[in-house]
Amino acid sequence: MKILIVEDNEDNLKLFKVIVESGGHATILARDGEEAVETAKREIPDLILMDIKMPKMNGINAAKILKSEQSTAKIPIIALTAYAMIEEKEKLGGEWFDGYIAKPVGVKDILKVIDEITQQKGERYDTTA
Ligand code: MN
Repeated sequence: MKILIVEDNEDNLKLFKVIVESGGHATILARDGEEAVETAKREIPDLILMDIKMPKMNGINAAKILKSEQSTAKIPIIALTAYAMIEEKEKLGGEWFDGYIAKPVGVKDILKVIDEITQQKGERYDTTA
């Protein structure tokens, strides 16, 4: 899959890139919400991993825009957020996200979510039969 990773912390961004690529996936990177929206519209990734707290535009607003536009509405968006905030999904714009991964993020957390999304996509969009 082609996976867009959105994260303003450069160390986290590099870490997530290594983890996703270790699963055999291609990565595209963005460092704030505005860049995420532009890049997603241009590249139409299979999945977006989205940080919440970012400069220019936060992850909630970026997800809201992407879910509201026809060309990007079906792309699954997984929020990457501090563990404590997982309990407050409503405040996190829960309706715009397809899932959550708590930070600090483990290798298995990311690869598990990617596997789940891949299986869902397979069921919904399988054209190989
Ligand atoms: Mn951040």
